[in-house]
Amino acid sequence: MQAFKHSNVEREMEVYGFESVVKSHCRMCHGGCGVLVYVKDGKVAKIAGDPECPINHGTLCSKGLASAQLAYHPDRLTYPVKRIGPKGSGRWERISWDEALDAIAEKILDYKDKYGAESIVFGYGTGRENEAAIYRITNLLGSPNVLTAGHFCYGPRISTSIITMGTNPIIEYEGFPQCIMMWGNNVTISNPDCYKGEPFSVALDAGAKLIVVDPRLTKPAARADIWLQLRPGTDPALAYGMLNVIVNEELYDKTFVENHVFGWEPFVKRVNEYPLDKVEEITWVPKAKIREAARLFATSKPAAIQWGVAIEQQINCADNDRLLMFLMGLTGNIDAEGGQVLYKTPPIVNVGQFGAHAMLPVEQAQKRLGGDQFRLASRFAIITPKVVWDAILEEKPYPVKMLFFISSNPVMTRANAKEVYRALEKVEFMAVSDFFLTPTAELADIVLPAATWLEMDYIGDFWKRHGYILPRRKVVQIGECLSDHEMLNRLGKKIGQEQFWWDNFEGALDFILQPMGITWKDFKQMDYLRGPVKHYKYKESGFSTPTRKFELYSTILEKMGYDPLPQHREVPESPVSAPELYKEYPYILITGARQPGFFHSENRQVPWLRGLHKDPIVQIHPDAATKEDIKEGDWVIIESPRGKVRQRAQLFAGMDPRIVAAQHAWWFPENKDPGHGWDKSNINILTDNAYDGCDPAFGATNIRTLLCKIYPEKKGERS
Ligand code: SF4
Repeated sequence: MQAFKHSNVEREMEVYGFESVVKSHCRMCHGGCGVLVYVKDGKVAKIAGDPECPINHGTLCSKGLASAQLAYHPDRLTYPVKRIGPKGSGRWERISWDEALDAIAEKILDYKDKYGAESIVFGYGTGRENEAAIYRITNLLGSPNVLTAGHFCYGPRISTSIITMGTNPIIEYEGFPQCIMMWGNNVTISNPDCYKGEPFSVALDAGAKLIVVDPRLTKPAARADIWLQLRPGTDPALAYGMLNVIVNEELYDKTFVENHVFGWEPFVKRVNEYPLDKVEEITWVPKAKIREAARLFATSKPAAIQWGVAIEQQINCADNDRLLMFLMGLTGNIDAEGGQVLYKTPPIVNVGQFGAHAMLPVEQAQKRLGGDQFRLASRFAIITPKVVWDAILEEKPYPVKMLFFISSNPVMTRANAKEVYRALEKVEFMAVSDFFLTPTAELADIVLPAATWLEMDYIGDFWKRHGYILPRRKVVQIGECLSDHEMLNRLGKKIGQEQFWWDNFEGALDFILQPMGITWKDFKQMDYLRGPVKHYKYKESGFSTPTRKFELYSTILEKMGYDPLPQHREVPESPVSAPELYKEYPYILITGARQPGFFHSENRQVPWLRGLHKDPIVQIHPDAATKEDIKEGDWVIIESPRGKVRQRAQLFAGMDPRIVAAQHAWWFPENKDPGHGWDKSNINILTDNAYDGCDPAFGATNIRTLLCKIYPEKKGERS
């Protein structure tokens, strides 16, 4: 470890009396930013960016800077508790770790015996980089059901890129792309898995052109050379419009197409089903702008697409991902320097291997909930949440009796929150591991105190596709908090998996690093490791797909019975698909735009971060506000066919007046009622999870685009 080469840490320690400074990396979002953690009187006293980290070069966001406020928060759960009153009563009793894990183990073994391992569902949300350990315990148990956000976040990008080109293409910002197309993403404030806002901004400052695809005038959109202000949910049509220009003006990379593409003819036929007139009508984007953007993207070398989760949380999830890959591939930017590189990690045990997927018996895998319907998701061990709620509420196709949520708050973050709540109320036994008693944890039987990133050793980023792994070093111990990994290591040994776990989790870290011939203690001394970076690997060995080509026409989707080429589907609730409903609900509601201080439902009790976002905000165009008699700052009711919630109005002219944009995952930790106001402003009260509205291959729920009406909460009583 080349300690503190570029900083004045030694001087700071001397002047301010810090006892030590620990190099680690943050996990307040999906992580990766290198940090320097300053310790004084045995506590974390300051957190700063690490200038030597290749991920963030010393920059940090508000969440990273506020990590210690979360870790030392007075409401933080620091010991295990069990519920002693009815569900939702808020009555808890302190218990020991052994009591807690023994009780959970007893339930697991009992349900496995009576109803089969499939009746036990483990789940995680954003993940504290715990996914490999969660899949490991669940696969070894014999349950095929791990409920993650993977049905509509990142999982689709990984899975569709694997079937199209073998792995996930990542922008090589260090190679300075000349044009960046930001699509369904705002990397300057969000948490993309492999990159942060800093290298994006550096590339722009170096002169890269910018195209932004977004219904809202975000800050990047305001800075863009071209802003494509599409109608929400029409991404596939827009992508096809651009591909139409690229194909028919022969702007594509002919060598790539001739030698490395599978399915060109049927693809061109499909492209020609999307002429620009039709695309303009579907998307609301003028065809001249589509043409201009397509030309700019195709003729800039290299060029890259900064994509995000917004394109996945809708009915066209898998096809959106594939179409953006086609734009990357056909313009010759796959594995190009400064384009989108297919990186390799260092040779370690990968997440799939650690997750013990090969140990799940085939007959158990076949029982995966929703596996017959969402076959592409099931191939990657992913399920959509509704199948779990149905298995609890209706016991179909079999009963689910136990849930174990680790870093997940589904009451706030999954579609159709009322149904989620009913399912969690009904399930026979639920355990939760988290930092606080969240609205989900309040419905549990046992809640375990999870460690933050400041309290654990781990091999950070080993699940990512950017090729780096970084040591996360434990800085402090707070109360009895335990990392999810250590907790699962202990639990695994209590449910008959002794030979697959270790004396403590450091043994697992050694196991992951074993192929490199190093141990955790060795790795802890290093700054990071990176796999070899090589471009155009496909020219030597082809793509890792069944045809060894870049599959425009997916042979895997065809075998599964899906359309092998992407298509545009109208979202289930839109002015086009539901004109009658549109008369009653005359606004297109978009949800989920990121708030810099929050990570989905997290951080609303952290003072610095709540200070950035006091109330839930719904953006309304000034014309619409006038029409509905809504003033800036009014509390507004947003209503869909499924329910209504309240958020505070912010007038925003940077979007079409027919659109309303609401924030997601709002609850109120300051509300000491055990529900913490979960149903007051939670936009998922309004979203839908009906099967026919989900992506047909992946089960992504359509939470980003729906119809709503809006009106002042109290006319005449301005707040
Ligand atoms: S972007 Fe994520 S990893 Fe980086 S400082 Fe912010 S919260 Fe931490």
